[in-house]
Amino acid sequence: MTCPCKSGKEYPQCCAPIHKGEQAAKTAEALMRSRYSAFVLADINYLMRSHHKSTRPLRDKKNILNFAKSVTWMGLQIVSSKAGKETDTEGWVEFKATYLENGRPQCIHENSYFVKDKGIWYYKSGEHK
Ligand SMILES: [Zn+2]
Repeated sequence: MTCPCKSGKEYPQCCAPIHKGEQAAKTAEALMRSRYSAFVLADINYLMRSHHKSTRPLRDKKNILNFAKSVTWMGLQIVSSKAGKETDTEGWVEFKATYLENGRPQCIHENSYFVKDKGIWYYKSGEHK
């Protein structure tokens, strides 16, 4: 199957190795894409693991899983990214994720903040646009 992050690549060549922990996301944007596809696949464990431990929403785990499963994910659009490259330790990715909730189109428009901790990228926080 093509990867749910809409990169145009096949899932096994895109987000799958990151989800399985075989490979780390090289950039903040790659981590962002892998988190979007984890929402599509309702991979809650990966969503928790890729969320920095300082802000990891463990108490909302079930709600996040229910939300991810209850909506129809339509697509991801990266609006812009700042830093977050292989040599950086922090980065920002502004994105729009669209989905249908009870048949109605909805959009998450967020500027996400990513940090690198011991060489691994994590999602830390997001600011809704
Ligand atoms: Zn992907």
